[in-house]
Amino acid sequence: MQFRDLNRQYETLKSEIDKGMQEVISSSAFISGRPVEALEADLAEYVGVRHCITCGNGTDALSMSLKAWDLKAGDCAFVPDFTFFASAEAVALEGAVPVFVDVNPRTFNIDPQKLEEAIQRVLAEGKLVPKAVVTVDLFGLPADYDAILPIAGKYGLKVLEDGAQGFGGELRGRRACSFGDISTTSFFPAKPLGCYGDGGAIFTDDDDTAAYLRSIRVHGKGTYKYDNVRIGRNSRLDTLQAAILLPKLHAFISYERDAVNHVAARYTEGLGKRIIPPCFDAKFVSSWAQYSIQTESEQIRNGLQQYLKLAGIPTMVYYPIPMHRQKAFSHLGIARETYEVSERLCKTVLALPMHPYLEDEEIDFVIEKVRGFFEGEKA
Ligand SMILES: *Cc1c(COP(=O)(O)O)cnc(C)c1O
Repeated sequence: MQFRDLNRQYETLKSEIDKGMQEVISSSAFISGRPVEALEADLAEYVGVRHCITCGNGTDALSMSLKAWDLKAGDCAFVPDFTFFASAEAVALEGAVPVFVDVNPRTFNIDPQKLEEAIQRVLAEGKLVPKAVVTVDLFGLPADYDAILPIAGKYGLKVLEDGAQGFGGELRGRRACSFGDISTTSFFPAKPLGCYGDGGAIFTDDDDTAAYLRSIRVHGKGTYKYDNVRIGRNSRLDTLQAAILLPKLHAFISYERDAVNHVAARYTEGLGKRIIPPCFDAKFVSSWAQYSIQTESEQIRNGLQQYLKLAGIPTMVYYPIPMHRQKAFSHLGIARETYEVSERLCKTVLALPMHPYLEDEEIDFVIEKVRGFFEGEKA
């Protein structure tokens, strides 16, 4: 069994993917070819925003977005303490300070009340200028925008939705990657919508922001490539990756998202009461980038992981180290703050195999083994 089986997806979509790639090779339009435009139009329509700007990867998508707001030294942006490193790295790349905020133990996403406390603390200290909140839709579940957007509005902060794992999620019928003033995603192969290499995209309703982002992804171009009006960078999505993503997006929309929701529901139904399943709340739809359970202790989590490994079931720990304890951020001097939930999650979470091509027998085998561990069976 594979943790995320990309081969099965390729077997299913092979004829369309191969055809798309062959067309790109025949056209020789390897950069900015027609499939890139087609993909941007389809992505914008699916998400429900005016503009989609594809780029080189999800980390560039975040840092270009923060650059569009002129985030710089002396500024800060609030970032959940429990996330992938890039959410906070992007803030530091622009010279600003990531201020970490603890998360909700059920959703794993930024805790809105603690966000407001952190904003007030930074304002009271008067050392940094709060500019933005980087919300993360962790493991496929949108952050609680019902609570976050009013807080951001109250303090005049921009919202950058890091939807690298959230693409395809929903909150009350509105799609992930449409909640931020700017929202981003990643097409890293293992994400809900992945390509065959690196790729990313930025979403916004704001015309000026979109024009700025289209400029800086190609060396700050003006009217054309050799008219350079600002310092930009090189961050484009390859045409080949767009051609691979087009059939994958259509599969994602027509059945893959439903399939992962089926897997998640079957896990939750079967796993029993010795583990805490991930959040199911009727106002959200998750795209299940991960199905992460929690155990009572680190010892139980590690024992379960080892037991499942012996049974041939791969699992992952996302994430073992909270942001505030990453060595790269040790110069920020944040040790005096407490991140109780995020600390505990790093010790107790375990992600089970999750992808749209898991079969019922495989899901049931995982369930049987998890239950077997708690019932004291030998692997
Ligand atoms: C994967 C990921 C990113 C970075 O995306 P890349 O395409 O790998 O650069 C950023 N934020 C989160 C939450 C991610 O999971």
